[in-house]
Amino acid sequence: MNSISSNRLTGRVAVVTASTEGIGYGIARRLAQEGAKVMISSRKEENVIKSVQKLTNEGLSVSGQVCDVTNAEHRQSLFKNTKEKFGGIDILVSNAGINPKLGYVLESDESSWDEMFHVNVKCSFLLAKEALPYLRERKGSNIVFVSSIAGLHPYPYIGAYSVSKTALIGLTKAAAKSLVTENIRVNCLAPGIVKTKFSTDVSSNLNQRNSKLNMTSSVGRIPMQRSGTIEEMGAVVAFLVSDDASYITGETIAAGGGIDCRL
Ligand code: NAP
Repeated sequence: MNSISSNRLTGRVAVVTASTEGIGYGIARRLAQEGAKVMISSRKEENVIKSVQKLTNEGLSVSGQVCDVTNAEHRQSLFKNTKEKFGGIDILVSNAGINPKLGYVLESDESSWDEMFHVNVKCSFLLAKEALPYLRERKGSNIVFVSSIAGLHPYPYIGAYSVSKTALIGLTKAAAKSLVTENIRVNCLAPGIVKTKFSTDVSSNLNQRNSKLNMTSSVGRIPMQRSGTIEEMGAVVAFLVSDDASYITGETIAAGGGIDCRL
């Protein structure tokens, strides 16, 4: 059942990567609840089928496709099939991110640094670049990158991850400036701690290394004294891609309950 009364995204088509679970799922669901047609995607076919089924059962207009963001053919067919299915693409949300390896930034080994930057930064750049011809065919298109609060203020113990997420904030600003005359807006969401498989894994890894760094202690440092929800992340993205945000581009919106980012 759609309990969201806004229909400000009716007539828009959105592609959301890594959207069969967690924050991406919350974003895809909210965009669809506000009237968009949404292409769901992730690496595993069974996850795609399950999520499409769940959202379709709620009466939402979604379709699904396998897309590992690191696979060029998957990315191309994601966009091509979305246009075939829904008639075009107005919104790209680049949400996929790799689980951080623990360690201070200068302790990162080269291969984990490369992997982090490949998935988090290069694939986000490629997705935006490859979506652009489709976005240019529509009026008032949008790109949203999903960074992290750690991209604004690095978490020392997930150093390489934090720096990769900072790069996305730079990518947002640079891409926004280059597309401003084409009326394509580019913005970024920086989630704080949101309870998902990703954050639970990070937390338990941190906990194994140092019990003071687990999720419970991190949540205790959030002024709002709780983690965020995937619905709250979806709400921020729905605003950013809607006409309500028509004068906002190149910005990163932190949604972290006031967290100050020091672990
Ligand atoms: P999550 O709950 O673990 O969800 C992961 C989703 O990504 C699943 O749908 C998974 O499905 C898909 N996925 C994983 N690797 C993929 C790939 N290479 N290509 C396509 N899909 C892929 O993660 P999350 O917490 O929602 O995180 C989403 C984003 O938010 C990430 O960029 C993360 O850095 C960022 N973030 C999260 C938090 C947090 O506290 N949760 C905080 C700040 C930022 P398959 O297994 O089927 O691929």
